[in-house]
Amino acid sequence: MIVPPAYLEIVRARPSKWTVVPRERYAVCPNCAERVALGTRPERMRCGRCSEMFEFELEHEYSAPHGT
Ligand SMILES: [Zn+2]
Repeated sequence: MIVPPAYLEIVRARPSKWTVVPRERYAVCPNCAERVALGTRPERMRCGRCSEMFEFELEHEYSAPHGT
């Protein structure tokens, strides 16, 4: 089982994160509510409006228990 080291880091970080809206493929800045279109999802991104850097919420696609 592989646990990305970044995951633990993010858990301990301040709770402010980009809110990702997958269906519409954009993220919302937790500081100023700016909407930013997403292609791929980087680990963190700086907001173009307020210049603050935030982490992204992680999807738990890697920890989903698919029996092998
Ligand atoms: Zn912002």
